[in-house]
Amino acid sequence: MKLIYLESPYGGNVPRNLTYARLCMHDCLERGEAPLASHLLYTQSSILDDDVAEERTLGINAGFAWAKHAELSAVYTDFGISDGMKLGIEDAEKNNRPVEYRKLFDFSDMKQSKQIDELSKYTYKNADIIEESNVCACYFCLKTFPSHLVIDFVDKGKTALCPVCKTESVYGDASGFSMHPKFVALAGKWYFDGSSETF
Ligand SMILES: [Zn+2]
Repeated sequence: MKLIYLESPYGGNVPRNLTYARLCMHDCLERGEAPLASHLLYTQSSILDDDVAEERTLGINAGFAWAKHAELSAVYTDFGISDGMKLGIEDAEKNNRPVEYRKLFDFSDMKQSKQIDELSKYTYKNADIIEESNVCACYFCLKTFPSHLVIDFVDKGKTALCPVCKTESVYGDASGFSMHPKFVALAGKWYFDGSSETF
């Protein structure tokens, strides 16, 4: 198996970026590769705190120590290239490690894009459909959760707020849309990364 050092964003929308990093790990494994993502490993509770500068640097350096053994840096760019990823690319270049840029999502499938375009209808005045649902997802933080955890509403109780990130980006499975993490992430990119403007 090819040893892969995985680069994807961490800071900013952290819940989204953690879900995205897991999907990227899955993508590498599906390709028959053995990936390591230091930002998934070292940021876990009781390991390092990314908000503390010294600890963040420690995590980055520990990651780069492992990266020296990797055959390739795989840079996943669906949500842009963060400053941390830029450091990783510089490190790869310094150590003559090849860099491959990858995307998980392909919006060239217009049918799928059109379907996603309909999804936002189910995030507005959606209290009834949330109640009919068993599971809900949020395409801002990419979390899925049982519908009974959705307890905050705006628009006079008609529009659901995400219990994790408090945005109005929640839809329920009764909408007929997929709850698969890859679909939720695809919707996240569609609605919050400006990609919809290119079509
Ligand atoms: Zn959320």
